[in-house]
Amino acid sequence: LYRAKGAGRGRTEVYDSSMGVATTSSLHRELTDAIATRQLVVHYQPIVDLADMRVVGYEALVRWQHPHRGLLLPGAFLPLVQEAGMSVPLAQFVATEVVEFVSQTTDRTRWVSINVSADQLGDGEFATTLLGEISRRRVAAGRIVVELTESSLVASGTRIRHELTQLSAAGVPILLDDFGTGVSPLSYLRDLPVAGVKLDMSFTSGIPDDPTAGKVARALGALARELAMVTIAEGIEHDEQARYLHRNGWRYGQGWLFGGAQPGDVSR
Ligand code: C2E
Ligand code: MG
Ligand code: MG
Ligand code: MG
Repeated sequence: LYRAKGAGRGRTEVYDSSMGVATTSSLHRELTDAIATRQLVVHYQPIVDLADMRVVGYEALVRWQHPHRGLLLPGAFLPLVQEAGMSVPLAQFVATEVVEFVSQTTDRTRWVSINVSADQLGDGEFATTLLGEISRRRVAAGRIVVELTESSLVASGTRIRHELTQLSAAGVPILLDDFGTGVSPLSYLRDLPVAGVKLDMSFTSGIPDDPTAGKVARALGALARELAMVTIAEGIEHDEQARYLHRNGWRYGQGWLFGGAQPGDVSR
């Protein structure tokens, strides 16, 4: 079995040796082809205003439409992308796709957020690439948002900090993803140019049965509002969760209750 470095628990392994994809260089070639032949696609999940359920934006989520394996989710192939040294080309691909999508959407108030990992930011080119696309397509910088997980920030060096500062100064908001699960989220809120937080779905799914999850969600919401940050709750599947989170300070929401990730359709 092909074991990607960093492939954690709960992740599906895409390859086994019988498929003949056992070396990093052939994997590199296959992923390069996948980008070139548009097997990699970006889907968009709506983000709504919890006050009226109107769509205010989308999160861009990458998928691999694999010729033999069907539609693969990021957990199944991002570790391989990293292993093959393809993280940066992937980030460039997603950034280009998203800025093009935003430039074509009819509703100009909507924004799209892009997930970026530490290794994608760490090469020091991401901000330049993204800002280049933004100006080339004449998109308002505030309509492109960057999401970073707290866990990817654990090893954040000065280069990542510099990238984030560059993006934020240009008007691209930075969101802290999976908020509440990292090791020192509070110091990130203090030290990095963070415009908002996305409540990790583990808290959302605890509502209403786990009173602690609900209380933590409420406290994290209060903290974010105290810091004048944008609040987005992830993983909302039930109406009751949407109502609870909205009552407790979460302004925006995302989850299967409102819709999953779908191929981009600019007229939506
Ligand atoms: P994330 O950024 O926290 O994205 C949210 C994940 O939750 C997505 O999984 C989404 O499909 C899923 N989700 C949304 N609503 C619900 C719900 O109501 N219930 C449940 N159970 N799940 C829901 P997905 O698409 O598998 O993505 C997984 C992770 O992969 C993302 O987590 C993100 O960290 C990463 N990722 C996705 N696209 C990219 C990308 O283009 N670049 C990078 N670097 N990472 C990406
Ligand atoms: Mg995200
Ligand atoms: Mg998240
Ligand atoms: Mg997550």
